[in-house]
This record gives sequence, C-alpha cells and structure tokens, in this order.
Amino acid sequence: MADTFRRKMTAFEEVNWQYGKAAGLLEIPEAHASIMRNCYRELKVQVVLHRDDGRIEEYFGFRVQHNGTRGPYKGGIRYHPSVDMDEVRALASLMTWKTAVVNIPYGGAKGGVNCDPKKMSENELQTLTRTFTRKIDMALGVYRDIPAPDVGTNAKVMGWLMDEYGRKHGYSPAIVTGKPVALGGSKGRESATGLGVFFIAQRACRDFGVALQGARVVIQGFGNVGSWAARYLHDAGAKVIAVADAEGGVLEERGLDVAALEAHVREKKTVAGFAKASPLPKERIFETPCDILIPAALNGVIHEQNVGAINARLIIEGANNPINPHADHILAQRKIPVVPDILANAGGVTVSYFEWVQDLYSFFWDPDMVRTQLQRTIRHAYVDVESSARRHDTDLRTGALILAVGRVQEATRIRGIFP
Ligand code: GLU
Repeated sequence: MADTFRRKMTAFEEVNWQYGKAAGLLEIPEAHASIMRNCYRELKVQVVLHRDDGRIEEYFGFRVQHNGTRGPYKGGIRYHPSVDMDEVRALASLMTWKTAVVNIPYGGAKGGVNCDPKKMSENELQTLTRTFTRKIDMALGVYRDIPAPDVGTNAKVMGWLMDEYGRKHGYSPAIVTGKPVALGGSKGRESATGLGVFFIAQRACRDFGVALQGARVVIQGFGNVGSWAARYLHDAGAKVIAVADAEGGVLEERGLDVAALEAHVREKKTVAGFAKASPLPKERIFETPCDILIPAALNGVIHEQNVGAINARLIIEGANNPINPHADHILAQRKIPVVPDILANAGGVTVSYFEWVQDLYSFFWDPDMVRTQLQRTIRHAYVDVESSARRHDTDLRTGALILAVGRVQEATRIRGIFP
C-alpha cells in the first residue's frame, strides 16, 4: 500500500484509486472498468473578461461530462483559482457515483472557471458567467447536462446562467438548478446540502454510538454547506465548538452561538474576528478534539501530514474529496469511521433533482414536501450504503462506491454498451 502513495496523486487519480477498490471487489473486467473510470466528454474554453477598470483578463473554463448512462449529466460549477481539468474530472466522476448512491436519474458532470470570485465585482461576475455559459452552451441541455452551484458560485450566478441560456434557446428554467426561487428554483435548495449532512449525522451517530445531544462538532469551511450543517446540528442540541475558513478560525468550548456567527460572516465574509469566541489558527482546526469532524470546504485538506493529529470519533465529508487516499487508509487503521462525500453531501444534488422535476412540470412544492422527500432519499441511501459495506466487509466509502458502480454497471449493460 505504501508504494502506491510514494508519488502525490492528482485529484482524479485519488478518486480513481477509490473507484478501483470498488471495481476490484466487484470483479469488473478491466475493459468495462475503464469505460466507467474515464470521462465521456471534456470541454476547455477560453474566457476573456473585461474588468470594470478596463483591464483585460484571461481565464479558462471547463465542463466535463463523466458518465451519462443513468440520465442527463449533472453537477455544479465552481469558481476558484485552483480549478483545472484534472480537478474537474475528479469532481465530475464523484457526481456520477453520488447520483447513483442516492438513486436519482442522473449521470455525473462538473464545471468551473479558474477565477477568484472574491476579487471580482458583481458586474464582472455576471459578465464572466454569461461568457462562460455561451462557450459551453453546446454541451448543455435540459435533458443533456444541467449545471448547479458549487464552491464560489450561488443562486444568483445560476440565475444569470439560466437567463443567458434562455436568450438562445427560449425560457428553459430546467437548464440549471440552485436558481433563485423567484426564477423557478426550489424551496429548500440552498440549505439542502447542509440538511443532508445533518440527516447523515443523525444516522451515523446512532450507528457509531455518539450521542448527538451535546456532541462536540468541529467544522472546516463555513460556506453554504458548513454554515447550514452548523445551524441544523446546533438546533438539534449538538455543540459546534470550532469553525475555520480560508481566513482563520474560532473556538468556543461551551459551543459557538451559531446564529451570531452567521451574522458576523454575513458582514465580514469570514469567521475570523468573531468576538464571542477565541481565535484559532486555521491550520489547527483538524487537531481540535471533537466527536464529529466535518470537512466542508475544499478537496485534499486531510492528508498524510495532518491526519495523525485528528482526534475525532466520526468524520462526515461535507466537501467533495476532502481526504486523500493515504489519509483515508490511516483513518481506517485508526478505526475512525468516515461517511463519504458521495453519500454525506448528496442532499444538494437530491434537491437539485426535485427542482428540475418541479421546473419540468411547472408545479412547485412546499418546503415540507422538499424536506420529507430529501429525508426519505438520504435515509434510503444511508441504509443501502451501510448494508453494501457490511455485505462486502468494508468501509462506508468502498460500500458506497460498490453500490454506485454496481448501479452504473447494470445500466451500462442493459443499454448494450458492454455485454
Ligand atoms: N455542487 C453540488 C455537489 O457537488 C451540487 C450539484 C448539483 O446540484 O447538481 O454535489
């Protein structure tokens, strides 16, 4: 095993390492395994932006469609300086497995632009979004490929995407999910990923003997996923004791006042400097002893250098691919259970699916319906993953991948793509 990790893997290699484990346990012949490993279509486009001050900047945008066997390609669009083809491939592949784990009729895709939205005005962000939309237009479609928000994008960005797409194709709200409710978005979409993390925490706490009431929770990342997860966990009686983001961290052993922290972040755009807690260097977040650790920011944050310091009873992956395979292996040896991203953060794409369905029949659900259906979907997926892991005597990540790969494999076989 150590040999495999001598060279640092790329993000797509990391995802494929995990995929390979599942494909191996399923004894899938390499010719078939390869078809499901690789991406169907990859688009790289140049995006030129005229800044407000007259400067011209060049970015690159990507849309990768990984696998469309079970339905239209589905996945978010990320605005972050680290975006590149390899990262987008990795995230697209994770979407294939995620949609299969929760058993919604989609394939997997991802997109992004290597820009820093924090350094752009609203006008620049809108211009960039419209340019990027036009450049990837040929790959999109209501029944072909449906984007959504991801790191660095939000409902407003999705609204611009829908509007730009509609200029050419006519009114098509189902072309994108995670839109503002006023434009055909679903109630409950914004909080959906965090709520899904919470439903998973409830089940996993029960299974791994952690009392949710009073549980000490540490969250890395306080964006859409981390902040909503914090709110739901806090409301259920858990104590969110530490939170960190890109700027810094905060610690309060008696439990943070989550509502006050949210108000602080709305104003200051970071948790750093929150007055009702002590400052915590952001690198120390993973060392903070806790019952539940939730990485809810970017990929690759838990690795061989910091995994040893983790002192948690349960890890729930709010982010995509936050733990590299080496660290994952060490956590398994230390018997720290990890609920994988493709299950734990699937609440977002699940409510995206509900949004798409509502758009297609132009009839909108009330918030209770969204919550009930989300809870049902996540609970079924949890039970399926847990029993898959038990059947194959493996960890939850491999169990989830076995379930997902098995579903994609079956659909591929029925379609006649392989025998
Ligand atoms: N970007 C989110 C994810 O990684 C949501 C994708 C979607 O709703 O299509 O799951």
